[in-house]
Amino acid sequence: MSNRNFISIVISAYNEEANIAELYKQLKQSLDTIDSLKYEIIFVNDGSKDNTKAEVLKLYEKDKDVKLVDFVRNFGHEIAMTAGMDYAVGDAVLFMDADLQHPPQLIPEMVKHWRDGVDIVLTKRVDNQQESYFQKLRGKIFYKILNKLSDFEIPAQTPDFRLIDRKYVEVVKSMKENNRMFRGLISWIGVSNQVVIDFEAPSRFAGESKYSVKKLMKLAVDSILSFSIKPLRFAMYFGIISIIISGLVGVYMIIDYLITPNYQTTGFATTALLVIFLGSVQLISLGVIGEYVGRIHIETKNRPLYIAQYFPNQVD
Ligand code: UDP
Ligand code: MG
Repeated sequence: MSNRNFISIVISAYNEEANIAELYKQLKQSLDTIDSLKYEIIFVNDGSKDNTKAEVLKLYEKDKDVKLVDFVRNFGHEIAMTAGMDYAVGDAVLFMDADLQHPPQLIPEMVKHWRDGVDIVLTKRVDNQQESYFQKLRGKIFYKILNKLSDFEIPAQTPDFRLIDRKYVEVVKSMKENNRMFRGLISWIGVSNQVVIDFEAPSRFAGESKYSVKKLMKLAVDSILSFSIKPLRFAMYFGIISIIISGLVGVYMIIDYLITPNYQTTGFATTALLVIFLGSVQLISLGVIGEYVGRIHIETKNRPLYIAQYFPNQVD
């Protein structure tokens, strides 16, 4: 394979000061075992409030292969990966987390597949004992809902630890949307020339998870809304079903009225409940439409995805 000699490692880090040095050490060890491979290690500091930036700058000062993309504030993991990819110049980009849950020891195998001609190397987490029952359940529900509602299959248990060849990096780069989800974008491209490597994810080296339930919810909503317009159809389906039911109920009421002697009107509670119910359904539908309109609003503004300073500040 020609042009498979230079790899860009992209690491997004948010408050990971205690992991940077160890990750760098293990990365170096692992990368240096690979034959004639040039590499750059791009840390994206996603607006950390701790010493992450200083830790990276320490490495940057003594190692010219270390680069830093420094965000002015927290833009989120997906945007951080995007930024790393934008600055990467390698023949492939390898994404990983900063907390050592994506073991650098796997990189030689990933690179080997790539050099054998594979364009996308994905990884799959098997059996993570460190995850609590709640976390596992959360992950399961997340992917269940996601795949039910989204038009593209987004495989479960495939973390963002992956290698993408330059030609698909360019494709992903051409997708400029604000609300993005990498896993989904890759599924959307639908590359068949890919392999999946299993690995056992260790627990975090230091610090704690930065994905709060709130961030995960946002990711889930983003993923559904940016890959599908199915939710918009629900209101229509629901309306059609309501019309059919109300028609049937209407016919029943007329017959009931005709055959019952001394028919008396009752059912105030039923009426009230129905009004509230249908009112709520309408509000929810409006909310769903609102989410889509809001996204259109944000995307049309065409703001930059992030604001960052790049070290080294080279001009191409
Ligand atoms: N991360 C980030 N920005 C954020 C949240 C997380 O860059 O707003 C990074 C974080 O530093 C880590 C990776 O994304 O390198 C994955 O986050 P985390 O380990 O907290 O997620 P988990 O492994 O618990 O799903
Ligand atoms: Mg993690």
